[in-house]
Amino acid sequence: MELFDSHVHLDDEQFDNIRDEVIRRAIEAGVSRMVCIGTNAPTSRKCVEIANAYENVYAAVGIQPNYASDVGPDDWDSILALTKDPRVVAVGETGLDHYWDYAPVDVQQEYFERHLELSRTSRLPFIVHMRDPKPDAIANGASPTACSAHIYDVLKTAADVAPLHGVMHSYSGDEEYAKKFLDLGMHISFAGMVTFKKSTALREVAKLVPSGRLMIETDAPYLSPHPKRGQRPNEPALMLHTAECLAEARGVSLENLAATTTNNAKSFFGIE
Ligand SMILES: [Zn+2]
Repeated sequence: MELFDSHVHLDDEQFDNIRDEVIRRAIEAGVSRMVCIGTNAPTSRKCVEIANAYENVYAAVGIQPNYASDVGPDDWDSILALTKDPRVVAVGETGLDHYWDYAPVDVQQEYFERHLELSRTSRLPFIVHMRDPKPDAIANGASPTACSAHIYDVLKTAADVAPLHGVMHSYSGDEEYAKKFLDLGMHISFAGMVTFKKSTALREVAKLVPSGRLMIETDAPYLSPHPKRGQRPNEPALMLHTAECLAEARGVSLENLAATTTNNAKSFFGIE
């Protein structure tokens, strides 16, 4: 059985002294491919270096929305240059974040739109980060789907220009928006959160994603899946638990779920 971790921050410094072992354990656990995801110019460069050092690792390069106000003058040019590396298979992660307040949303949106344009010109797929507001912000009147709605608007505008080739990563939104993103042609990827006991609604969302649009990820070092939720850092070898949970929710075998998500990720990222 073969699994494909479509989103992992292998560049994270928590992995600096254990990266060899983490990648070896992933391969032993059947996770034969991983995409290392950049969040700014330096981490994107590090992801490309890691992807060039390990056969099983590919890279995505971009500016994550929480880093959008922290961009140096040459950083975007560095991202553009990095997309030319043969190990780079996607742009991102990009998107919007209404949970944290690290960057004004208009600056986040400007970078989101740049990545969408880069996806069109480079023909690389894009990876979307989406986080709706905090419960206390919602209690103070923010819409619980403010980020979903904002991302939908930006994607809808882009879809009118050219077909979208993107994924909603570590999806945590509701069913209504999942359907809207699917209607725009997006893929949807699930991380460890789908395994948590309270994530009943998210498992319902996982059921409705057509099998050709489903992907799986760890988002390591974050969010270890149940029953390894306490393990820090999370690592790709633990993705089996998320795969089992998704297989059960969708009423398919683990082998079927693994084959489906691996084939989807390979064709999404253009990996043979
Ligand atoms: Zn991420």
